Amino acid sequence: MNRDFIPYGRQFIDQKDIDAVVEVLRSDWLTTGPLVDKFEKAVAGFVGTDFGIAVSSGTAALHTAMYSIGVGPGDEIIVPTITFAATANAVVMQGGTPVFADVTPHNLLIDPSDVEKRITARTKAIVPVDYAGHPADYDSLQAISEKYGLKLIADACHSFGAEYKGKHSGKLADISIFSFHPVKHITTGEGGMLVTDNPEYAQKARIFRNHGITSDFYQRAEKNSWFYEMTELGYNYRLTDIQCALGLSQLEKLPLFLTRRREIAKRYDSSFRNSDKLTLLKVAPEVSHAYHIYVIVLNLENLTVDRSIVFSDLRKRGIGVNAHYIPVHLHPYYRKNFNTKLGDCPTAEAVYERIISIPIFPAMSDENIQTVINEVLEVLNGYGIDA
Ligand SMILES: *Cc1c(COP(=O)(O)O)cnc(C)c1O
Repeated sequence: MNRDFIPYGRQFIDQKDIDAVVEVLRSDWLTTGPLVDKFEKAVAGFVGTDFGIAVSSGTAALHTAMYSIGVGPGDEIIVPTITFAATANAVVMQGGTPVFADVTPHNLLIDPSDVEKRITARTKAIVPVDYAGHPADYDSLQAISEKYGLKLIADACHSFGAEYKGKHSGKLADISIFSFHPVKHITTGEGGMLVTDNPEYAQKARIFRNHGITSDFYQRAEKNSWFYEMTELGYNYRLTDIQCALGLSQLEKLPLFLTRRREIAKRYDSSFRNSDKLTLLKVAPEVSHAYHIYVIVLNLENLTVDRSIVFSDLRKRGIGVNAHYIPVHLHPYYRKNFNTKLGDCPTAEAVYERIISIPIFPAMSDENIQTVINEVLEVLNGYGIDA
């Protein structure tokens, strides 16, 4: 077998992207110049929010969001346990305590009824994750937030371009955050963005990403002024003009990227729907899915092997499968420092043993898609109880 390895995700870069970056390299500004503002306005404009604040990664965006809503020691923030570790880590970075909520088995999204059970007098915010690109249950989460006076911060790293009841992902919470890592919908290499309609949060985020200083270099250059004040402890979380040029060029292709991701998902859906060896995640009718990842859930009761065998067989066949995610509360860091343990989130723990992400990215060829379908079915059917 000498076919190329098909990764679970990868970027799509064309000549326009390359030209846009090269042009910045010849300009006066490599970082914090005019393109940062342009990229922020373009993303906010696409989502429909008043403000966009570009930062150096999705993780930096999460950390900045925690700062902007004032998270500190003693505050509890409810996060789903099925997510990338950064969702919870951002809470810890501000001295807060992440509280892990379980997920609903049919879509692995944070379970609103479990969220409500974990609310205490110290709870400050809920951070839903739009797992796989499917927006969380925002109507329920909004109702809970209002009832208990909590902030809602969306980790929308999977759902750039998704919609929920006709509203864009990014418009569904007090602050939403995106990542522009190469496997995400559009890339800037590393990069992230906060979007919000709240001017106070936007202002705080701008200061926090620039060392806690109240004006940036570009603003001072425009005013011919040297004066600045540091009023808060912040970080260097700035996104460069080089990256924003790439982001602007990528954003033009987002509609095409989304169309292709949805096409691939549709082919997988129709090829796998009738298999008794796996179950597909449910998609709510009020949602337009962005398909950052495509997840299959193994029907282990109909298979003679566990997930690890299926996983390694598919890898051997050149299929870049992955598992999103190990429940965060089971990581040694959280067990040690926050006393989390097996049994805290039973649904997530059980479904984790069955999930596999299969390749989905816009640059996949039709042949790639068919290869993935064939290999997945061949491996699973080879381990059927009845085989
Ligand atoms: C990618 C991702 C992040 C972190 O983004 P980076 O840009 O890699 O820092 C956070 N949360 C989720 C759910 C993600 O998928």
